[in-house]
Amino acid sequence: MIRVTVYNENVHEKLDPAVSAVYPEGIHGAIRSFLEADGDFSVRTVTLDDVESLTKEVLAETDVLLWWGHIAHHKVPDEVARRVQEAVLEGMGFIALHSGHHSKPFRALMGTSCNLSWREDGDMERVWVVKPGHPIAQGLGRYFELPHDETYAEPFDIPEPQALVFATWYEGGELFRSGCCYTRGAGKIFYFQPGHETFPIYYDANVQTVLKNAVRWAAPTARVPLDCPNIRKIGTE
Ligand code: ZN
Repeated sequence: MIRVTVYNENVHEKLDPAVSAVYPEGIHGAIRSFLEADGDFSVRTVTLDDVESLTKEVLAETDVLLWWGHIAHHKVPDEVARRVQEAVLEGMGFIALHSGHHSKPFRALMGTSCNLSWREDGDMERVWVVKPGHPIAQGLGRYFELPHDETYAEPFDIPEPQALVFATWYEGGELFRSGCCYTRGAGKIFYFQPGHETFPIYYDANVQTVLKNAVRWAAPTARVPLDCPNIRKIGTE
């Protein structure tokens, strides 16, 4: 079993009936549901209310952490973000979802502003598979479409992706690098753009395929504790 932790701030769901109508169990509940149905994943969920439960111990028992946040990024304590960043450097997988591009852990891991352009009018998006041999793209066609999502547009201020798996075209003509892979230290990171809270994106079969593939891809092969030892010359230990 791959041990997955899903963090969702769960704030829109409490404030906006349009969001709780789409996600009555929260975005984290929807993600947990399709991951658990797969049978390969054990899933824990965390929201902003208990974000401090992302302790070093919980992160050590997490193979892959998914992160959905938007209006409450600033309420995540810096110390929690630092723990997540260190866990990734030691090998934990990290998947930043949609507006998680501005989350503290993702920005810390990228080292750039992660700013982008956006408009919220529910355009159709066509997600193109630009790296069909990549593990995250398995089981998909040449592209898939989502009838409505928030538009995210270039320029997206991220480091050059180590692998670009998806690129999105929107009805309005914008382009966006929507599926980006990185490694930092021993950890693997994936950013995936679809997932605006007012649209049922996480019920889409292709999106679920992407995220299940991404969790499998990001699961660690090793955990390497951060260390900076003072060493002795071989033969003089
Ligand atoms: Zn959004």
